[in-house]
Amino acid sequence: MGPLNFPLMKLTPRSLAHTPDPTGYFGNYGGVFVPPELEAPLAEVRGAYDVVSRSHDFIEELRRIRRHFQGRPTPTYHAARLSKKLGKTQIYLKREDLNHTGAHKLNHCMGEGLLAHFMGKKKLIAETGAGQHGVALATAAAYFGLECDIYMGEVDMAKQAPNVARMQILGARVIPATEGLKTLKEAVDAALVAYIQDPVNQLYCIGSVVGPHPFPMMVRDFQQVVGLEAREQFIEMTGNLPDMVVACVGGGSNAMGLFAGFIDDPVELRGIEPLGKGPAPGEHSATMTYGSEGIIHGFRCYLLQNENGEPAPVHSIASGLDYPGVGPEHCALKDSGRVKYLTASDRDAVEAFYVLSRCEGIIPALESAHAVAHAIHLARENPEIARTVLVNLSGRGDKDMDYLIEHFGTGEEFRI
Ligand SMILES: *Cc1c(COP(=O)(O)O)cnc(C)c1O
Repeated sequence: MGPLNFPLMKLTPRSLAHTPDPTGYFGNYGGVFVPPELEAPLAEVRGAYDVVSRSHDFIEELRRIRRHFQGRPTPTYHAARLSKKLGKTQIYLKREDLNHTGAHKLNHCMGEGLLAHFMGKKKLIAETGAGQHGVALATAAAYFGLECDIYMGEVDMAKQAPNVARMQILGARVIPATEGLKTLKEAVDAALVAYIQDPVNQLYCIGSVVGPHPFPMMVRDFQQVVGLEAREQFIEMTGNLPDMVVACVGGGSNAMGLFAGFIDDPVELRGIEPLGKGPAPGEHSATMTYGSEGIIHGFRCYLLQNENGEPAPVHSIASGLDYPGVGPEHCALKDSGRVKYLTASDRDAVEAFYVLSRCEGIIPALESAHAVAHAIHLARENPEIARTVLVNLSGRGDKDMDYLIEHFGTGEEFRI
């Protein structure tokens, strides 16, 4: 590990510093449920993160990267035309679509890359489903001059050819997972096997606030920049805090990042899960709404599972949201009542996609469109209530356009 200055500051938000507990639990959720071979590598990551998260050098370097490479701070934007069409609710957007690579995921990938650099690792490894995490991590690896192996189900590779090409252009190796259904689950298994084989040279980098301790804490800490910026920007723009803060929840990283900025404030926090085609099993991925406690990918959380405790099949039109588990801190925030978790359907998200594009000139990712859909729903429900709603626009919609044009054309049916 490189030389580190005397600790001057801490990366963990003060208000969340008491979570998780030292064993990685957020209430009943989280922890470490891994094969014995992974315990030592995870302990090394915990030790390293404990040092760097208090290191002046690390934090200063991360700030420099965010400003000069990622283009942060991203703006907070008042969607005035959309708001006016809907009534008195004022909708604001935190523009993570303008973060380099077009989504919030790079925030934690640059943190993980910098951690690998400080730990003296040579290679970043991860699995990817639709390829969004793979592209963000390949970007971080290129920046730090590290090798990068991305494990991806063979079926997903065929479906997501443009993201496979992006990763390869960025210098990553995309390794097909050829077992079983050849999708995300098999890719996770393959990535963990590879990590166990060489934890000395490689760092495993997770794609959301999920996985065994310390990943849910680390990814939250790296994402909280979204909430801290948004809070300052919102107060500067309006003189007040927002009444409500809304974000979509897949694994929960963009939501956790935004919520971290407002957790101690008198602000209502809402996480929006994908209701997909409806509440029947297999048609949605609304984990917190319909799931029960279980274990997936090394941690305990609410889980959509079958009678044997295996993760159940899930669906969402937004491939970044179709995960049967959810971050452990969200589970604790649901139980405590601090955050409310609600749903938006595929159709709600598609409507929000076209409406935001037409009204504001911003094409959102289908994931983010779930959060926008909730804001639209709130505004329509009570057109006379003048409240402010801040939405995390977690990413841009370029990746979704081919699909939408094919299935919904130019979206004439969604004009408002
Ligand atoms: C991956 C992704 C998500 C879902 O991930 P979270 O960890 O729940 O934030 C949301 N929005 C976009 C644009 C994504 O790429």
